[in-house]
Amino acid sequence: MSVLKIARIDVFQVDLPYSGDVYRLSGGREYRTFDATILRITTQNGLEGWGESTPFGANYVAAHALGVRSGIAEIAPSLIGLDPRRVDRINDAMDIALLGHEHAKTALDVACWDLFGKSVGLPVCELLGGRTDVRMPVVSSIYMGAPDDMRRRVAEHRAIGYICHSVKIGGEPADDAARIAASVADKKPGEYFIADANGGMTVETALRMLRLLPPGVDFVLEQPCPTWRECMSLRRRTDIPIIFDELAMSDASIAQLIADDAAEGFSIKISKNGGLTRGRRQRDIGVAAGYTVTVMDTVGSDIAFAGVVHLGQTFPERYLRCVLDCRKLVSLRTADGEFEVIEGRIVAPNTPGLGVTPRLQVLREPVASYS
Ligand SMILES: [Mg+2]
Repeated sequence: MSVLKIARIDVFQVDLPYSGDVYRLSGGREYRTFDATILRITTQNGLEGWGESTPFGANYVAAHALGVRSGIAEIAPSLIGLDPRRVDRINDAMDIALLGHEHAKTALDVACWDLFGKSVGLPVCELLGGRTDVRMPVVSSIYMGAPDDMRRRVAEHRAIGYICHSVKIGGEPADDAARIAASVADKKPGEYFIADANGGMTVETALRMLRLLPPGVDFVLEQPCPTWRECMSLRRRTDIPIIFDELAMSDASIAQLIADDAAEGFSIKISKNGGLTRGRRQRDIGVAAGYTVTVMDTVGSDIAFAGVVHLGQTFPERYLRCVLDCRKLVSLRTADGEFEVIEGRIVAPNTPGLGVTPRLQVLREPVASYS
C-alpha cells in the first residue's frame, strides 16, 4: 500500500443565500442564508479532497456553523499525518479529539472519502459498497401553505417527473389535515407522500389531525413530535407509518429506534449524522432492520449534495425512499460536476472521488489552515 498522508487542511466559509425569500419552519423559525463550511484536505503528494458541512441555521437540530469550524479547529491538528483512506481510523481519531459534535466531523470525513476515491480512481459510491442501477427518485419539498397551493405545487413537481413528495405540516390540526388531503388528492400509482412536521406537533395535535383526515389517505408521518417520548406515545395510539428525521442523529439513536420499534424508517442527513463513514453504518443498520431510508442533508451546496448522491446510490431500491436535492434550497453554486436531475431522478457520476470541482473564486481565501 503506497503512502498517503494528510499534509494540510484548509477551511473555507461561504454564505449560501436561500433560493426563496424566507424559509419558514414550525415554531416561528426563519432562514434567509445558510453559513456553509467547505474544507479541503491536501495530501503529501498533492491530492485534494473536499467536504462540506452546512447546518440548517443554529436552531433546527443541535448543530451550528460556528460549531462546525470550532470543532474542526479541535480535530484537524490530530489528523495531520494520518492516511485518509483508513476512514474508520480517521473517525476514531476524530472521536478521541472531540466527543460528539458530528456536524463538525462531516466535512473532514467526506473529504477523506473524496481522497480515497481519487487515490484509487473510483467513485465514492463504489467504495461505499458498490453502485446499484437505481435511478434515484428526488423528493420534492412542498413548504407549508394553503392546501390548494400545496396541491398545485405537488402537481408542478409531478409534471417534471417527481414521484416522492415531502409535504410540510405543523400548524393547526384542521389546517394540517386539509394540507395533507389536498396534497395527496391527485396521487398517481407509484407516488409516495411524506407529511413532515419537523417535530412541530404535540401528541395531542397529531392525534387530532389524524382523526380529521378522510379515511384511506396514503402517506407516512415524518418526525411528528420533537422528543422521543412524545413520538413513542403517538406511536402506541395510531397505525400511521412513522419515520424519524431530526431524532435519528447517530448510530445509537438508530439502534434505539429499532429496539423500540418506534418507526418504519428514518432520514440520514449527512452533516447531522457525521459524514459518509457513519452514514454507511446507519445504512447497514437500517437495511438489516428492513427500514426505508431517505438520504439527504440538512441543507448545503454542490459538495454536500455529492455525498448524498454517492451514499444513496448504494442502497438497494427496496430500502431507498428517495434523495433530497439540497442544492435547490440555495442560490449559489460552489462546485461543478455531473449531478443533473433528469425527470425527477439522479444517478451518481463515474468520476473518481465525489466528482466535484470546487469553484475557487466562490470559496476565496481559507479562513483557517492546519498543517
Ligand atoms: Mg424531515
